[in-house]
Amino acid sequence: MSPLSKDAPINIVGAGVFGLSTALHLARRGYRNVTVFDKQPYDTTLYSYLNGCDAASADMNKIIRSAYGSQVEYQELTFEAIEAWKAWNSELATGNDLPLGMSKDDKVFYNCGNLSMTDGNVLPAFELATIKTMEECGHKDTQLITTDARHASIAESRGQGFALDPFHRKSKGKSNLGVLDSTGGVAVADKACRLALHKARGHGAKFVLDPVAGAFASFIADVHGKTIGIKTKDGRTHEAALTIMACGGWTPSLLTRLDHLCETTAGSVILYKIPQHSPLFQRFSPEAFPTWLWKVRDGAKGGLYGFPRDEAGYLKIGYRGTKYTNPKPQADGKERSVPVTRWSEGEKLKQIPEQAMKVLKGFVAEYLPELKEEGIDVELSRVCWYTDTFDNHFVVDRVPGDEGLFVATGGSGHAFKYLPNIGNWVVDVLEGAGEERPAVKAWKWRSVGVETPVNLLMEGSAGERALANVRLAEETNAAGNRAKL
Ligand SMILES: Cc1cc2nc3c(=O)[nH]c(=O)nc-3n(C[C@H](O)[C@H](O)[C@H](O)COP(=O)(O)OP(=O)(O)OC[C@H]3O[C@@H](n4cnc5c(N)ncnc54)[C@H](O)[C@@H]3O)c2cc1C
Repeated sequence: MSPLSKDAPINIVGAGVFGLSTALHLARRGYRNVTVFDKQPYDTTLYSYLNGCDAASADMNKIIRSAYGSQVEYQELTFEAIEAWKAWNSELATGNDLPLGMSKDDKVFYNCGNLSMTDGNVLPAFELATIKTMEECGHKDTQLITTDARHASIAESRGQGFALDPFHRKSKGKSNLGVLDSTGGVAVADKACRLALHKARGHGAKFVLDPVAGAFASFIADVHGKTIGIKTKDGRTHEAALTIMACGGWTPSLLTRLDHLCETTAGSVILYKIPQHSPLFQRFSPEAFPTWLWKVRDGAKGGLYGFPRDEAGYLKIGYRGTKYTNPKPQADGKERSVPVTRWSEGEKLKQIPEQAMKVLKGFVAEYLPELKEEGIDVELSRVCWYTDTFDNHFVVDRVPGDEGLFVATGGSGHAFKYLPNIGNWVVDVLEGAGEERPAVKAWKWRSVGVETPVNLLMEGSAGERALANVRLAEETNAAGNRAKL
């Protein structure tokens, strides 16, 4: 593989976590001809879902956790990321070189902790594996068990006492078993993306963010079939020595060679809006409330997670116990799942599945009865599209047999936390550096082997999780007015 010169034109398609971070680190490491294309006009929509963005990265918040069971590679990658998140906060606090519309009071990471809860009476194997792995790696006492008095005093001493029992279970005489990952917390996703975009531009990366001029239409190839650039929807061609596809949930249908390696699936999200005058506004602030996971590996009846409220008062809760698909016939006659959202062109989806709403509302009734007491109901529901791989590892590699094409995708529901650092790893892979590292090995282009896949992909329109086969819940809309079915 011939090394890329620092002047070689490089196209990145997609300005989500993978594309942004790759652009930032390519430009930072001296690549002078990097152009990022995205169909979203992020300079005006500011990575906000409420402004019409529907990428996984364009969100109000995401969880940061270094607790990864026995997966040391992601644990250590997160420690590296957290240092960078803290550095970004410090840079913002100086007030120098801020992205337009952001101030020195903005933070992109709150270290409020991430509490992983169970309703059982023993800790799940994953949590025990995390504690063991953390200790082995020299991170003792980062994982704090809610029922352990010594851990409780450590949490107090770190100002995270609130995070051990955020649902006030103890005072209600209810069980409260879980592990607080004290290293974790919440990433302010939209602002973090704006900051990364600003930084990448500052290092010289160019961005074409436009529904037509920025929208990928097709690859262009030479006579040998090697990719030599892309064509955008305005008909223009953009030749490049390398094209990096980083289109999140849209990638598998744009780069069909990803069949059976990646598939887009939908998570379900509801938002409550806490009025500023409500006592709950302070209670759910990131200074007083952690991010949390509830029975997150327990299948369809669990799989919940949530956040402190954001600055506008939105309290977000998500369900990933079942990830839904949207299989549609493609140009080559095959079915592939494609994202559909409130903001899609053509067919739209404003609701979430009834099953998801049931689990979400069941949790809220038991753990957050104060919302109902305060008269606060679901204000908005939405789906959000993952790019799952069969084994939950990312895909960061050249496309086999095509020296001009590279892919950085497969976030599998856990890549946001790596916004500040994943691009550095992508550039290493591009340069052939550090190939022996377990994460880099795990991210190689691969096919499903003999082991049982973590995610079953491409079950098609007959599959139980296909949106066409599930009932949808009552609709809520982006204007904040609850709508009827
Ligand atoms: C519901 C949900 C919850 C999650 N929670 C967490 C969490 O708590 N913590 C965490 O670390 N991770 C989380 N993740 C995962 C994380 O959000 C993703 O892994 C990450 O954001 C994926 O980034 P991406 O760049 O691959 O894709 P995306 O963010 O989807 O970006 C892809 C980009 O490609 C663009 N694009 C698509 N098609 C085209 C085209 N034809 N032309 C030009 N541009 C195009 C899109 O507009 C978009 O900007 C979650 C994901 C989901 C869906």
